[in-house]
Amino acid sequence: NTGDGRAAQIPRYVRVNTLKWSLEEATEYFERKGYQQGSPLIAKNFKKDQHIPGLLLFPPQTQFGDDPAYTSGKIILQDKASCFPATVLAPPAKEDSVVIDATAAPGNKTSHLSALMGNKGKLLAFERDRRRFKILQSMLQKAGCKNVETINGDFLVTDPRDPKFAGVTHILLDPSCSGSGIVNRLDYLVESEQDKTDNLEDRLNKLAVFQLMMVRHAMRFPSVEKIVYSTCSIHATENEQVVLQALTCNEAFEGGFELASREHVLSSWHRRGLPGILKNSADADALVRCSPGEDATNGFFVSCFQRGQPLEASTP
Ligand code: SAM
Repeated sequence: NTGDGRAAQIPRYVRVNTLKWSLEEATEYFERKGYQQGSPLIAKNFKKDQHIPGLLLFPPQTQFGDDPAYTSGKIILQDKASCFPATVLAPPAKEDSVVIDATAAPGNKTSHLSALMGNKGKLLAFERDRRRFKILQSMLQKAGCKNVETINGDFLVTDPRDPKFAGVTHILLDPSCSGSGIVNRLDYLVESEQDKTDNLEDRLNKLAVFQLMMVRHAMRFPSVEKIVYSTCSIHATENEQVVLQALTCNEAFEGGFELASREHVLSSWHRRGLPGILKNSADADALVRCSPGEDATNGFFVSCFQRGQPLEASTP
């Protein structure tokens, strides 16, 4: 079962960029181009996604590279699973909203956040890598995002107590990961022998240390209420294990974060966190997973932390 074989099964997902037009306008546009609403397994058909508002499904081989809707930024080609984090974060669309995208390039989730915010308030988008930062900037310009301030810097060296972050209530964390859920990369798992497995474990552990650092840093922003942590990895080391440690170590000094319960985290999505790693089954159920090959998406993981009760005065 090669990655390419699985890729052929994944619909072509199209996110309607609501900063430029509405879902209704997009639907009419595609109907005028000869598409009709129906099963995306049939040529020239498309349908609306049942979980993500504004996401359309087309047959896997559909090409949009030359389509004016694509070249003008009215549609964004974005895998369904990659639309989950911004949907779960649900940033407020208010003039005084302040939201952070801590690891933004190439910017699909940033532009999704900006659209959900209706171009209101302020979205601070960090990207450490210079080359990827430039891609982020052009992506956001093409998508018509006007509420984004891009910062070519390391999120980990920001000072959460800096007054400019005082109003930050929502943070999206989609940090570098093994990428093991990306369907075209699944073949790398097939070729692993024992020594490669050892290297993989090593690599995953290093990534997890960095990912946990990112989550803990996000928890230090004084007004943050909600943090979504996501990866395109299939490995528990980068997913449930990071969440477990973030929950365990935050109680003492970051202000008591807990997992948002399933009803707030794509409750109708069927595949949830792996059992037996988190403290209880409700916590595992609060997590979202996508299985490559089984869910018609790339492999993906989403968790959502929310600030719990204020700490007791006696807590150090
Ligand atoms: N969210 C992006 C999207 O949907 O288009 C994908 C993000 S990608 C998985 C992770 C990005 O985070 C990379 O571009 C990487 O350079 C950047 N990154 C990693 N560590 C960072 C840090 N400490 N501060 C800022 N950016 C970082």
